[in-house]
Amino acid sequence: MWDLRSMTVEELRSCLQELGQPAFRAGQLYDWLQARGAESFDEMTNLPKNLREILKQRGELRCAAIAQRYDSQLDDTSKYLFRLNDGEYIESVLMHYHHGYTICVSTQVGCKMGCTFCATGQGGFCRNLLPSEILAQVQAAQRDKNIRISNIVLMGMGEPLDNYSNVMRFLKLVSSEKGLNIGMRHISLSTCGLVDRIYDLMDENLQLTLSVSLHAPNDRIRTQTMPVARRWKIDELLTACRKYGEQTGRRISFEYAMIQGVNDSDACARELGHRLKGILAHVNLIPVNEVTDTGYKRSSRERLERFVAVLAEYHITATIRRTLGADINASCGQLRRKKIDEVVQK
Ligand code: SAH
Ligand code: SF4
Repeated sequence: MWDLRSMTVEELRSCLQELGQPAFRAGQLYDWLQARGAESFDEMTNLPKNLREILKQRGELRCAAIAQRYDSQLDDTSKYLFRLNDGEYIESVLMHYHHGYTICVSTQVGCKMGCTFCATGQGGFCRNLLPSEILAQVQAAQRDKNIRISNIVLMGMGEPLDNYSNVMRFLKLVSSEKGLNIGMRHISLSTCGLVDRIYDLMDENLQLTLSVSLHAPNDRIRTQTMPVARRWKIDELLTACRKYGEQTGRRISFEYAMIQGVNDSDACARELGHRLKGILAHVNLIPVNEVTDTGYKRSSRERLERFVAVLAEYHITATIRRTLGADINASCGQLRRKKIDEVVQK
């Protein structure tokens, strides 16, 4: 079966050629699959009926069907639980900022990385998402709300760099002029720090924003919460980040979830400040979402502010991230787990 939504216009052209169709149909099909986010072949009314019938047999239309939507009462955030063609569930979060809509998409069903504070990580890994399934999340939300999404963050379920080739293809399709046309400068990719893949990404020379989930100033603390820290030392990771910044000229944003009594002391801030010296960096402090059974508590507002002040002494800018959709469990991984629990209980 052809996974049509994952294909470039050239690839569609060669499929259509195989079916004896004229080349101009590829552009029409691409428009339906990408820019319009079609959810059925029958919508594609400018394609002849017999072609639509053949496409139904030879190809498939990967979609993200809305299984559930939760709207925050506190702000204009919506969380989607999507059902994929094979019945798996994933989550996306749509956020409304003054400059437009941003969607946080998933890149895998589950995740292998096992971070202890993360609901997705604690739920284990199921499979990679196809490029079409990452795209379908953006398209489904746009259609549902009748809006245009201007920014994408790859910060939902899964580790994007662990699904490297599908994510690269997604980026190429989503930024294509005849597709959704969302430019690389409007896309952020977040990784827990797969060092070999950061070097690969550096070589792609994309204008996207790289976010690195650091969450600790040293290996001793980092290995407590992030198993990936056993594979790559923090120094190796930060060396990769330094080089990435030098080669691409792009500032890296470091994510740091503040957990009370684990990684939020002044000493931690000083060590972090010291380690980040010379890197084009920005630090995002997030009070940890208390979602796993580990008993982690979020740091106090005062602690967060003090951490920012210490980093400033090292000339590192840090911001305390607003938590959007606090009432709808807007951090990813929780809905899928809930859904699994429901099914298991039935
Ligand atoms: N796998 C990638 C991207 C998805 S996770 C990564 O880890 O970077 C997106 C972000 O949410 C990461 O920075 C991750 O560390 C953070 N995160 C996960 N669980 C969290 C929690 N309970 N509280 C705060 N941030 C969390
Ligand atoms: Fe995976 Fe990211 Fe969650 Fe870690 S924080 S388990 S890498 S999704």
